[in-house]
Parts: sequence; C-alpha cells; structure tokens
Amino acid sequence: MSDAGTEDAGDPTRSATPAEPPESVEVAESESESSAVDDSEAAALDPEVESSEASDAFEALGNEVRMAVFRALVDDSGGEGGDEPLAGRTMTFSELFEASPADTSAGFAYHLRQLTGLFLRKTGDEDDEYALTYAGLEVARAIVAGTYTDRVSFGPVPTGDPCPLCESGELTATCEANYVTVACEDCERGVLTLPFPPGARRGRDPERLLDAFDRHHRHRLSVMSDGVCPECAATMDATLARPPASVTERLPDSDARRAQVRLDCEQCGCRLHAPVTLAVLEHPAVVSLFHDHASNVRDRPIWNVGDEWRETVVSEDPWCVRVSVELGDEVLDLFVAGDCSVAGTRRRSADEIRQAS
Ligand SMILES: [Zn+2]
Ligand SMILES: [Zn+2]
Repeated sequence: MSDAGTEDAGDPTRSATPAEPPESVEVAESESESSAVDDSEAAALDPEVESSEASDAFEALGNEVRMAVFRALVDDSGGEGGDEPLAGRTMTFSELFEASPADTSAGFAYHLRQLTGLFLRKTGDEDDEYALTYAGLEVARAIVAGTYTDRVSFGPVPTGDPCPLCESGELTATCEANYVTVACEDCERGVLTLPFPPGARRGRDPERLLDAFDRHHRHRLSVMSDGVCPECAATMDATLARPPASVTERLPDSDARRAQVRLDCEQCGCRLHAPVTLAVLEHPAVVSLFHDHASNVRDRPIWNVGDEWRETVVSEDPWCVRVSVELGDEVLDLFVAGDCSVAGTRRRSADEIRQAS
C-alpha cells in the first residue's frame, strides 16, 4: 500500500513484455519555430510579484468575526448568486457587520482592517464596498468547503470493478481522513491511494461519491500530464521512470520491464506516480477511438481502466513506452516519450496487424 500523504496511483493496467520498435508512427509535428514575442512584449509578460509573510497572513485569519466576513462574501444562500462576479460578491461595511457576530461597529472595523489588503479589497464607486482578493477567495472557499476543518471517512464500499492485480477479487474503496484507498479484499493489495477533498460529500448522493473521486483525479492527471500543477499552476515535471520495487513486487508479472509516469511540482510538492496509461486517457486519439466504438473512455474508472489496455517498454534510452488499447477490431498505439508527451499514435485494424506480422 502506498504512503498516505503522497499521491500514488498503483498499476491498474497490465503490461506486456516484448519490446519492438515502432514502425510507421505518425509523429505530431512539433512547433520548433521560436515564438514571435519581441523584447518589450517579453518584459510585459514578466510577472511582478509582491509577497507577504505567510505567518502574518495566517495570523490575520484566527478570529470568528473575520471568518464570518469570508463566509458572507461567498455565501450562496442569499439567492442572488447568479449575477455575482466570479470572485464573489461585494458588500458594504454595514452589510458585513450585520452578517458578523461582532457586538460593536468599532470592534468590527478593527477586524475588517486586519483583513483589508491581503484578503479584502475596497471597491465600488465610493470605495465603500468590500470584495475578496484572490487570496481571500481561496481562504473563503476552503472555509466553506471544510478543507481545513473536516476529516471524512467512509467505507469500505464495493466499487463493482474487478481487481486488475489478481483478477479474482473485487475492489473496494475506503476513505480515511480524506484519503481514499482502492484495494482488493482477495489479494489484499492496494491499487491506489489518493486524497479526496472533504467537501465532495456535501449535497451528493453517497453512491455518486466514487464517480466524483474518479472524475476529480482523472482531470487532475490530465492537467498534470500537460505540465501544469493542479494545486498551484507552476510547471509540473513529467517524466517516465522505472517503478520502485514496492510497486513492481505487487504486480502479476513482477519481472516485466515497466515504466511509470512521475509528475512532480517543484514549487508546492504536489506529486503523483501513476501507470503510463493514466497519463494518456484523455488523449484525443483515445477519446475518438472509444467514441467510434460507441463507448466512452470516461466510463472506465482510474482504478481499473479495463483489460484491453497494454503497456510495453519499447526503449529506456531514450524512453519510449507504447500504450495500446484494443477495441472491437481495432488497436490504437500511443508512443509516449520520456517527458510523457505522446510522440505519435497509430491506429490499425486487426487485419492490418495480421498482414504486418
Ligand atoms: Zn486482487
Ligand atoms: Zn504545485
């Protein structure tokens, strides 16, 4: 089982060993021309950054009156939510005072001053209204979603999907303090452990929770594979590497040559190790293959994408992994390079494959 605290998807796909070089691979044309941004435009794109001490920022938050201000500015129960700007509503001093548990307006004014600047900005024609800054909105959303305060546990619940590791057991999902583990009760091996925001359960039928967990992570994986951190938007390093022994030893053919996708954000520490297949699930060639076969790749949960997927290490220097998926009489191969980009795809019918071999 992987460490709770790191994002670690195991290996829900099986892989085949024979390595063969790709033949005629359609390689997407890369845009190698340098971009047409001149120096002045480059300077305009260079971001200016002002930073505050994190300890000052968090100190300003520790008060119930101030929490009420955040809640009021994102609270959707007023019924006028539809017209509000994306960054939450604006409210006057007296509206905010009304919404707070403060006893006196002088006391309330003090609390509001502590938030203004970092978390609140003055707005309106006469500068007499308050709105959340970016930081304020992040804090407000975390407060109402319970991100810092709620620890959700549930399960084990059956996923309805077979174990990809032993193929005889059924996978169950267990959530412990906001971390979901999908594991097999038969072979007692874990397939993945990933965090799940505590707010996910609100207003949702418990039977839909695992669907939401799957959606949440497949889109995070997609954005990570595109080189963008889903937490902080910094550059996500995407590389192929050999999986550690802790992963390979729980797989059926543990001696097979394997690769894993490693996604790391150097800025905020967000990271994920996953089967290569998961990094290409949302690739247009995959989506269209499934669509052409009247099927939807999104119906395959990340803990078991189905036994029609294969991963083959074609080369380790440089890295090339072929991810293949067979649907009906067609096989799609995706050739994944060391930076996890799809260097080429090949879609063939079973007839063409027979003729080629
Ligand atoms: Zn199993
Ligand atoms: Zn990050």
